[in-house]
Amino acid sequence: MNADLHCHSCHSDGVLAPSALAARAAANGVELWSLTDHDTLNGLDEARNAAMQCGLSFIDGVEVSVSWGGITVHVVGLGIDPSNTDLAAGLTRVRSGRDARALRIADELSLLGVVEPYENAMRHAGNPTLVGRSHFARVLVEQGYAGDIHAVFRNFLVPGRPGYVDHRWTTLSQALAWIHGAGGVAVIAHPGRYRISGERIEQLFEEFHTLGGRGIEVISGSHGDAEVRTFARLARRFGFYASRASDFHAPDESAVDLGCSAPLPDDLKPIWLAPELNERVICMT
Ligand code: AMP
Ligand code: MN
Ligand code: MN
Ligand code: MN
Repeated sequence: MNADLHCHSCHSDGVLAPSALAARAAANGVELWSLTDHDTLNGLDEARNAAMQCGLSFIDGVEVSVSWGGITVHVVGLGIDPSNTDLAAGLTRVRSGRDARALRIADELSLLGVVEPYENAMRHAGNPTLVGRSHFARVLVEQGYAGDIHAVFRNFLVPGRPGYVDHRWTTLSQALAWIHGAGGVAVIAHPGRYRISGERIEQLFEEFHTLGGRGIEVISGSHGDAEVRTFARLARRFGFYASRASDFHAPDESAVDLGCSAPLPDDLKPIWLAPELNERVICMT
């Protein structure tokens, strides 16, 4: 099964419209697809309709920004009901600090000489309530501060570098309560991206498991072979289902295109076979 259960549209920090993503996913051989924009459900209606047109099976998704133990952790909610009002209100709250944060990021970047960072980031943001670091990263590339997006995130916008502004998102337990309340299944996104020790990762997984979290991304656009091995082992140990995710944002930026990730290791349980998610897959074929 070619499943790709994590990507972004212009409703958060991707560049393509949901319908263009659906067409691209279908062209790349994806069979089961989920749109998981950061902290918003706005793209899901278009994505679901486009998936139907393209013959893709579809899962309503979202990627929730969480603060946990002093770092940012992303939790993907799969199979959520997009009409759930508690989830929608919760996501509005998660988004609410983004504009003030963007102004502070812009102040820092102005000091480096970046021209009109806030206005230019807003030009990239398809949804002004969802302005984020990727939009600033595109401005830094345009103005020659870095060769590409990945170089931006090595030298700017990350802890200890110019343009990083600490931010409190929601809590892990609150994010899972919203996801579960909306009938969804919670998955830890790209665990290999969190710069914490093995011991802390296990604490995170322990807490996530206790709160009812069901899966982790083993295959992710952010993972190399070593991370795949590590998180396959941890998925087995914790009894987590495994997800497969490109985390695609844009044709010129993302290392892995939609549906082009490696397959899941054979012995892992694919998240799309979890009974509580399986019944929420919208089948088009
Ligand atoms: P924000 O939610 O505004 O803090 O932005 C987080 C987004 O920045 C992520 O979802 C990615 O799209 C992007 N990002 C963070 N770190 C990296 C990285 N190392 N390489 C590329 N993109 C990154
Ligand atoms: Mn992103
Ligand atoms: Mn993420
Ligand atoms: Mn993502």
